Amino acid sequence: MNAYDVIVIGGGPAGCAMALDLNRRGYDVALCDQAKFPRDKVCGEFISPGADPILEQLGVLSSIEALSPKRLKGVAISSYESAELEIDYPTSTETGLSPTSLSVPRYQLDALFLKQVQNAGVKVFEQHKITDFIFDDGCVVGVKGWDETKTSFSLNGKLVVDAGGRNAVSLRKFNLKREPKGNSKIAFSAHWQGVRLPHDYCYMHVSHPGYTGISSVGNGRANVVLVVEAREKSLDLTQKTLTGDGKLALRGGAEAFYHRVLMQNSRRCKMLEGGERVEPVRSVESLAFAVKPVPCGGLVLVGDATGFIDPFTGEGIYLSLRSSQLAGEVIHSGFQNSNFSRNFLSVYDERRKQEFGGKFLLSRILQGLIYNRVLCNRVMKSLSANRVLAETLVGVIGDILPAKKVVSLKFLLQLLVETFKGKAVLDLRKVL
Ligand SMILES: Cc1cc2nc3c(=O)[nH]c(=O)nc-3n(C[C@H](O)[C@H](O)[C@H](O)COP(=O)(O)OP(=O)(O)OC[C@H]3O[C@@H](n4cnc5c(N)ncnc54)[C@H](O)[C@@H]3O)c2cc1C
Repeated sequence: MNAYDVIVIGGGPAGCAMALDLNRRGYDVALCDQAKFPRDKVCGEFISPGADPILEQLGVLSSIEALSPKRLKGVAISSYESAELEIDYPTSTETGLSPTSLSVPRYQLDALFLKQVQNAGVKVFEQHKITDFIFDDGCVVGVKGWDETKTSFSLNGKLVVDAGGRNAVSLRKFNLKREPKGNSKIAFSAHWQGVRLPHDYCYMHVSHPGYTGISSVGNGRANVVLVVEAREKSLDLTQKTLTGDGKLALRGGAEAFYHRVLMQNSRRCKMLEGGERVEPVRSVESLAFAVKPVPCGGLVLVGDATGFIDPFTGEGIYLSLRSSQLAGEVIHSGFQNSNFSRNFLSVYDERRKQEFGGKFLLSRILQGLIYNRVLCNRVMKSLSANRVLAETLVGVIGDILPAKKVVSLKFLLQLLVETFKGKAVLDLRKVL
């Protein structure tokens, strides 16, 4: 049986970042993914500007730039058919430069990332699905699964990192997933050509029955993502079947639903009416979830496998990259101390909570806002009246300012004062 220092499950952004980080630290790493790359992924496809330094450090930024991706200046938000409010990422006080976010198809990005991992010397096993773990004295010391010929295989490692995303094998095996009741959503996405976007922003249109994110991804293409509540009445649930990996197989009715909802918003319609969808609509169900701590040693989760916040704030890729960086530090220390016990590795969970806790809270607050028409319209008005407030919010969303800038009493009070000048007092319990 092959033995490695670390086995990484999953070749998405989290798994690739993890494998590259550990490879650079001198460890012998194997990475398994059930898919054959290039493979696609339902995603808004814009990457927070805060991810640029991490991508550079991992040595992939210049290869991504070579794909001619789009660089976006910020976010343009329309609340229930209002004119779009274009908000730039705030200029850096240190460099005086204005950050931008990469916007690039996942089909290309993930394949490029995996190639980089392979070139670095990591042993990559595509079409290798991990189905279970190997244990020694209650600790994970390897993985078992099936390859593309349905032949079983196993790999031993001193540690396993599960970067298998929202359907990671650890979540099933240890029953770790906690899904909020009655809050399930469905996301639909497809690339279009000929879409007329006024400027280089990610256009977010919030309206009933959900929201859309539209952004150019370079080479004349735009990505058009629609997110709606799964209980949305006009989406005929008989039109879809859930496949094993959480993706939805769509029939004609659901594609028609996607187009109908896109075009029923007049602002959105203006952008899309001269355009044309160039691929089938893909979709994924059940978006936000939290994850309980791993119950054993020898196993670390990174990326979406650690939990998922609604994609409205679009930072999943940044969180995946950053969680892998945090995990890399703790794993390195585990090797130095020959300790991969559950207790030792729990330091990583603490660091993640410290760093991402504010962001997760912000996401919950924004979710409460966007599904409340009156509140959403009022907040948009106050953001357009106060650019500093608006840019601060987008700076936090773009992972270039710390979440505490926004999830602070001072910021919330400022926003409340702007929003409720002369209006009734807001019941925060309804928002959170
Ligand atoms: C609608 C929507 C819009 C989004 N928009 C954005 C956005 O604009 N910007 C942004 O930054 N983020 C966005 N996200 C979030 C982003 O897509 C994820 O956070 C990101 O893909 C997580 O990366 P990951 O590596 O953890 O998981 P993934 O990218 O899901 O990769 C997991 C990999 O693991 C493999 N795998 C899974 N199980 C196994 C197994 N048992 N054996 C072997 N291989 C396995 C899979 O094949 C896959 O390749 C969006 C998400 C959704 C749903």
